[in-house]
Amino acid sequence: MAKLEKLKMYIGGKWCDAASGEWFETFNPFTGKPWALVARGGAEDANRAVAAAKTAFHSPEWRGLTATQRGHLLRKLGDLIADNAQHLAEIEVKDNGKLIAEMALQLKYAPQWYYYYGGLADKIEGKVLPIDKAQHFAYTVHEPLGVVVAIIPWNSPLLLTAWKLAPALAAGNTVVIKPSEFTPASTLEFVKLIEKAGIPKGVVNVVTGFGAEAGEPLVTHPDVAKVAFTGGVKSGTHVYQKAAATLKKVSLELGGKSPNIVFDDADIDNAVKGAISGIFAATGQTCIAGSRLLVQKRIHNRFVDRLVEFAKTAKMGNPMSMETQVGPVTTMPQYKKILGYLDVAKGEGAKCVLGGAKATRPECGSGWFVEPTIFTGVDNAMRIAQEEVFGPVLSVIPFKDDDEAIEIANDVLYGLAAGVWTTSIRRAIEIPKRLQAGTVWVNTYRAVSYMAPFGGYKRSGLGRESGQDAIQEYMQTKTVWVSTATEVPNPFVMR
Ligand code: NAD
Ligand code: MN
Repeated sequence: MAKLEKLKMYIGGKWCDAASGEWFETFNPFTGKPWALVARGGAEDANRAVAAAKTAFHSPEWRGLTATQRGHLLRKLGDLIADNAQHLAEIEVKDNGKLIAEMALQLKYAPQWYYYYGGLADKIEGKVLPIDKAQHFAYTVHEPLGVVVAIIPWNSPLLLTAWKLAPALAAGNTVVIKPSEFTPASTLEFVKLIEKAGIPKGVVNVVTGFGAEAGEPLVTHPDVAKVAFTGGVKSGTHVYQKAAATLKKVSLELGGKSPNIVFDDADIDNAVKGAISGIFAATGQTCIAGSRLLVQKRIHNRFVDRLVEFAKTAKMGNPMSMETQVGPVTTMPQYKKILGYLDVAKGEGAKCVLGGAKATRPECGSGWFVEPTIFTGVDNAMRIAQEEVFGPVLSVIPFKDDDEAIEIANDVLYGLAAGVWTTSIRRAIEIPKRLQAGTVWVNTYRAVSYMAPFGGYKRSGLGRESGQDAIQEYMQTKTVWVSTATEVPNPFVMR
C-alpha cells in the first residue's frame, strides 16, 4: 500500500507532530479505506495550544487591533474561503463522504458568517447607565473572554467551525479548534487560510485527536475561558460537567429528534419534498434531521405512497459525482449504529416500507452506504422515535388532530427543530407557539442563516449560534464606576 500522507497539527502558527509522536488513520467512507494519517494529540499538545492562544490573546499584534481591523481580517478570511471553496470541498468529500454538490454550496455560503461577524465586530456598544447615585458616572463595556475552545463534530466540520470561530474572533478572543477524529482534514486545510488572511500566529490553533485524549485536556484547562461544543448529548453533558470545575462559560449544540408535522390541509407536493429533504439530506446525518414525520390520519396512506415513490428515486453512489443524491455514512461506528437501529425498529414492530438494510447497489462499491429507509406504524414511545439515529431513517407517526400532533411532537427529550406543513393561517401561527423547539419551520425545512439564532430547547443544548446576540456568548460585560465627587465620604458614617 502507498505510504499515507501525514497531516500535522497547527499550534502557534507552526505545523507540528503530536508530542507522543503518534498518528491515527482517517478514512474515506466511499472506499472504506484510510487515506491519511493524522497527529494523535494528547494533553501535552492541548497545553501547548492553550499556551499559544493565551500568549496571542495578550499580544499587541492581536490586542492592539481595533475592532474594525479585526473585522477586516474576518472579511479577508471569508473571501479566501470562497476562493478556495472547490479545493476545500474536495478534501471534505474524501474525508467525510459528504456530497460534492452539498459541499460546493456550503462553502460558498460559509463565508457569510465571517462577513456578518466581521461587520458586527465594531458595532458592539456598551451603555452609559442612567445611574441612581449622585456624583457617579457608570458605563458598561463588552470584552472578550480570552481563550475559547471550539469542539466540532464530523457531520459539517467547516460550517460548524464558522459558526463558532467568526463570532469568537470578532469579539477579540483567541481560539483552539478540536475537530472530530473522523474528519480533521478539512479543518487543517482551512487554517492555512488563517495565515493568508493575516490573522496573527497563535490566534487560531488546531489540536487533532480523540475526544478523551485531545478534547478533554482542553475542556479542563484552567486557562480556557469558554467551551463552544457541538456534538452528541452524551459527550456534551460530560463536557459540561468537566468544564464546571473551572466555571467556564459553555455553549452546547446537541442532537435532535425533530418532528416534521404534515397537516391534512398541507400542499402535498411541497410537504413530500420537505419530508425528503428533512431526513435524506446529508444521508440523515444532521442535527436538524426531521426524523419523526407526523402525518394526519386523513391523508396518511396517500402521503406515504407519494413519499416512498419520491424517496425511491434517490441516486446513491460516489459523493464526488454531481449526480449523487445520497452519499455514504461518514464513520464506521455510525454505519454500524444505523444498521443496529434498523433491527431495533423491526423488533419493535415498525413496518419497513422502504430500504431497511445496507445498500448493496453496485454504484456504492465498498462504501458505507445505508438504503434510504422509511418505517410506518411507528409509536412515539418506540426507541426508533425517541433516540437520535443520525442516518437516513424516517419514522412515520400518524396523528388525529392538532392536540395530538403537539403532544407527540413535544414528547421527546430533544427540542432542536420542528417543521409544520399547512395552508391554514391559524395553524401556521398557532402550532409554532406550542412546539418546544429552538427553530420552527412553516412550509419549509432546513433553512438556516448567519442572521438567524439557532440552538436547542430541552436536551438539545444551551446557548444560541448565529445572529447578532450570539456574539455575547463570546464576551463578558464589565461595569465601570467613576466617582466625580470632590471628596470621598467618611466610610464609618452611614448615610
Ligand atoms: P460526539 O459528541 O461524539 O463528538 C463531538 C466532538 O466532541 C468530537 O470532536 C469529539 O472528539 C469531541 N469529544 C468527545 N468526547 C469528548 C470529551 N470527553 N472531551 C472533549 N471533547 C470530546 O458527536 P459526533 O458523533 O461527532 O457528532 C454527531 C452529533 O452532533 C449528533 O448528536 C448531532 O445531532 C450533533 N450535532 C449537533 C448540531 C447542532 O448544531 N445542534 C450540529 C451538528 C451535529
Ligand atoms: Mn475520514
